[in-house]
Amino acid sequence: MSYDTNNIFARILRGEIPCHKVYEDEHTLAFMDVMPQADGHTLVIPKMPSRNLLDADPKALGALMASVQTVANAVQQAFGAEGILVQQFNEPAAGQTVFHLHFHILPRSTGVGLRPHTGKMADHALLAEHAAKIRAALEG
Ligand code: AMP
Repeated sequence: MSYDTNNIFARILRGEIPCHKVYEDEHTLAFMDVMPQADGHTLVIPKMPSRNLLDADPKALGALMASVQTVANAVQQAFGAEGILVQQFNEPAAGQTVFHLHFHILPRSTGVGLRPHTGKMADHALLAEHAAKIRAALEG
C-alpha cells in the first residue's frame, strides 16, 4: 500500500485545510479530532509522510512519541482526566480511515464512556475552546 499525498492530514500539514492546532514542532503537529469521541480528543501526527506505523521511518518515531507524551499530559491536565487512552490503527481491517500515521489521545474517567463515531462534525467554536485549553496547559 502506498502513501497518498492528498490524504486529509497531508493537506492539513500543507495548510490547505484548517485545523484546531494545539501543538507543533519541527517534526510533529497535534490538532483536535473533528469528530471527537470524548471532549479533548486530539490527534498527533508526524510531518514525515507514512501511511501508518507499519511503513513509518523508525527515525521519525522518537520525536513523534515525545510529542504524544507532551500532548497526552497537557490533555490530561486541561480536561482533569483520570486517565489517557492512546489509540493507533493500521490499515482498514484494524479501523484506520485516514492514511497518514496518527495517534489518538483520549481523556478518560471512570464511568464515562467514549462517544460512538457518528460521522458528525463537532461544533467548531467548541473545538476551538478545547484547543485553547490544551494550549494553555502546554504553556503553563
Ligand atoms: P482513524 O484513521 O480511524 O484512526 O481515525 C481518523 C480520525 O481522523 C477520525 O477520528 C476522524 O474523526 C478524524 N478526522 C477526519 N478528518 C479530520 C479533519 N479534517 N480534522 C481532524 N480530524 C479529522
